[in-house]
Amino acid sequence: MLLIGDTVQGLLGSRHYRIIDRLGEGGQGAVFLADDGRGEVAVKWYHRQNAVEQQREMIARLIRMGPPGGEAGRRFVWPLDVVTKKGDLSFGYVMPAVNLKSYAELGQVWARLRPTPGMRQRCRISWQLAQAYRQLHLAGYCYRDISMGNFLFDPKSGEVLIIDNDNIGINQQSGSRILGTMEFMAPEVITGRQVPSTSTDLYSLAVLLFYFWIWHHPMHGMLEYNVRVWDIPAKKRIYGEMPVFIFDPRDGSNRLPADPEYQTPLRFWDACPKSIRDLFIRSFTDGIRNPDRRVTEGEWVHAFRQLENQIARCPHDRAENFWQPGMKQLQCWHCHRRFDAPPRFVISSSSGLKHVLVLPETKLRRSELEPFCSEESMDEVVAEVIQNPNNPNVWGLRNLTGESWQFMPADGSEPREVVSGRAVPISAGHEVKIGYQTNLRIEV
Ligand SMILES: [Zn+2]
Repeated sequence: MLLIGDTVQGLLGSRHYRIIDRLGEGGQGAVFLADDGRGEVAVKWYHRQNAVEQQREMIARLIRMGPPGGEAGRRFVWPLDVVTKKGDLSFGYVMPAVNLKSYAELGQVWARLRPTPGMRQRCRISWQLAQAYRQLHLAGYCYRDISMGNFLFDPKSGEVLIIDNDNIGINQQSGSRILGTMEFMAPEVITGRQVPSTSTDLYSLAVLLFYFWIWHHPMHGMLEYNVRVWDIPAKKRIYGEMPVFIFDPRDGSNRLPADPEYQTPLRFWDACPKSIRDLFIRSFTDGIRNPDRRVTEGEWVHAFRQLENQIARCPHDRAENFWQPGMKQLQCWHCHRRFDAPPRFVISSSSGLKHVLVLPETKLRRSELEPFCSEESMDEVVAEVIQNPNNPNVWGLRNLTGESWQFMPADGSEPREVVSGRAVPISAGHEVKIGYQTNLRIEV
């Protein structure tokens, strides 16, 4: 094993790394903090039995090919160099040192060691996670071991990090000794009919998102409850050979038992918006046996980005509730009282229809008005809700796009130009033309 003060030798850039601290230990090896003369990096050093040539070759290949592109690519803590030590048969790899203080694992949230992310952050974390895997898959990789252990998130900002990227492979090509963590594995991998691929990654991603939203495994119902010995054959049966979703609308054989310990998932399922429940149902019914029916990363991204704009707080207890298209009223999941839905911006563009709730803090991002904008500009705020300082009941939508809008009043009077910096009044039926393709209507 490596000791503090040891020096390891890089293979790619002939750089030296001095080990300065031990950060943690995992199943495959230990992680150290090191200094490469220019700054701090992290070094993962394999236990001797895990230090096999195939692993070393794969990591060297990941370094050569580089991380997936775009914003999402930065969420993977990617290997930078392979390292060895004189007289030691093992090896390791170098990766960026990430300050993990603001990041949490799901298990830490469950144990109340870290704050529970709010609904808006949950949406953001979810679409960022799906988007990261989308970029990874587009780059030709598969992750093969998506699980709770390599998913970190900032509960406050909603930022996501994916760690332990040394098991990533080339889709349909690389052999792997890693089949994944059984709870997250696709049934066809558990039963040995398939090796991990982007398609089995989609299954694992759905399990991870289900854990993130429902705090429970999608197959842990009566069938698991009645197992006496929770051993490998039992797990194979529940996860691989006869998986039945606890909320399968047609097959009730694996419903949640009436045990108090199993009531939390039921509560979270009820609070989960229908658009997401539908995606989970498809993932764990049709998607179990038919990989072509699995929910794609893009579908998750779209669904969670929509939801991020559809959260209304209950006026009685401030609980966050999801509005869904068509709802005139919401019933609070927490106090069960009803309240009126806030007004909506209905935005139609070449990518379809979007609904954004009009709240004092609502801001429209460029991606909401221009679906095909560049990735760098998609998060740029291009319009914001403002309140008239003299009359807080009068709201407007301020144009921050840099270009003029065309405002078409609801009463049918002459269209008016709204230059950048000015606002249109928010009132039922008003419409705004933005650019060539986008139309925004105010619905109350
Ligand atoms: Zn309430």
